Amino acid sequence: MRTQVVIIGAGPAGLLLSHLLDRAGVESVLVERQSPDHVAGRIRAGVLESSSVDLLTDVGLGKRIAAEGDEHRGIYLQWTDSPRAVARAVARAAARAEARAEAGAGAGAETQRHHLDFVDHVGRSVWVYGQTEVTKDLMEARQAAGQQAYYEASDVTLLDVDSERPSVTFTDSHGVPQRIEADAVAGCDGFHGPSRTAIPSASRRTWERVYPYAWLGVLADVPPSTDELIYAWHPDGFALHSMRSATVSRLYVQVPPEEDIAGWSDDRIWDALATRLGHGRNGWSLQQGPITEKAVLPMRSFVSTPMRHGRLFLAGDAAHIVPPTGAKGLNLAIADVTLLARALSAWLVDGSRTLVDSYSEDALRRVWRCTHFSWWMTSMLHTVPIEKGGDDFDRQLQLSQLRWVTSSEPGAAGLAENYAGLPIGF
Ligand SMILES: Cc1cc2nc3c(=O)[nH]c(=O)nc-3n(C[C@H](O)[C@H](O)[C@H](O)COP(=O)(O)OP(=O)(O)OC[C@H]3O[C@@H](n4cnc5c(N)ncnc54)[C@H](O)[C@@H]3O)c2cc1C
Repeated sequence: MRTQVVIIGAGPAGLLLSHLLDRAGVESVLVERQSPDHVAGRIRAGVLESSSVDLLTDVGLGKRIAAEGDEHRGIYLQWTDSPRAVARAVARAAARAEARAEAGAGAGAETQRHHLDFVDHVGRSVWVYGQTEVTKDLMEARQAAGQQAYYEASDVTLLDVDSERPSVTFTDSHGVPQRIEADAVAGCDGFHGPSRTAIPSASRRTWERVYPYAWLGVLADVPPSTDELIYAWHPDGFALHSMRSATVSRLYVQVPPEEDIAGWSDDRIWDALATRLGHGRNGWSLQQGPITEKAVLPMRSFVSTPMRHGRLFLAGDAAHIVPPTGAKGLNLAIADVTLLARALSAWLVDGSRTLVDSYSEDALRRVWRCTHFSWWMTSMLHTVPIEKGGDDFDRQLQLSQLRWVTSSEPGAAGLAENYAGLPIGF
């Protein structure tokens, strides 16, 4: 079989790329390892930048976002602090056995919650609209356009990507060997897919930062206790109150990366969330409900360059991973494929190679900006355990940074500009 672009991976990057290419008159075939139900059911990111919403709306995918998404003007940044609380947390970390017995920052600690209004600072908002919903919209659009896809493909292999005739081979869901030749191959197969490693290691460079903490994330059938996301610094560790809908909350607590989830009963999770998010402080309370899903999510920053090798183009998590604190993973995937679709259609429809030649450099400019922002938010909000090198000096710097971004106009505007999202072509 022959097509113009073979796309490996039907995550948001692959699905959106095929939609954008179709609109530009470029034919593509999608090859995905999992079943459509598995792809549609994956619960991951939940915040869309304004530029992602604008893009999805421009390409006919904004109807459900407008009807069912929840527009947020900003976020809350919060910290619970007193000199005693910080000193006690350091002492507790040194004596882990006692740590669990003591709940929270204790008496004398103050919780400060500040709203950062992105619209006031930079004129842009964000939208809470789950990755599952984005995926659903994209799958429906592909189906309506009658585009070809192979789900449940195994042994996916990229061949001759640095030649004029690249191809992809795999075994389809019926066990039949397939080979697709194409003008270009788009590697949208996430961090563990085969595309990145199809670039010879001598031509690849990677940068990586593995963080000494992870998130324990839960979905709970309870209306959110907040109108917008709460990012909370706490001596016990970071917590985030996010949401999926008017009836489903998404909540996270910082835990060690090697944490065994079996040690976290629902009661223990709610206790940690209540302490770190400030239940009972300043008249705010955290509503609890049945936890329907829980998982530990490791955190890393990772960038692989270049994002193009011959006729292979990487996009999304195949080329880079960010820790979720800045809500950038899904948005970066959207930005990458927007640039890639423009580049491929300029080449395959109009015969101009200028944009494909600059694709890697163009995409990486935004990738590094988002990598920095995600690292910066993560470093500002998570406490490093003392046994992993954290100390009171770090904590004072974090608190100073939080005070600065919530009290200085340029500080707040910088956070707002990055969180609400820079233009796709940044
Ligand atoms: C558990 C989890 C939670 C997350 N939470 C957040 C969050 O809260 N906020 C946030 O901003 N981001 C979050 N992210 C990141 C965000 O979901 C990703 O950045 C986003 O999914 C990237 O889209 P993608 O299409 O590039 O990659 P993916 O969504 O990973 O899609 C890659 C696709 O390629 C397929 N594939 C893999 N290997 C093969 C193969 N050999 N052959 C064919 N197909 C293959 C996969 O099955 C998958 O469908 C989370 C990620 C994970 C894993």
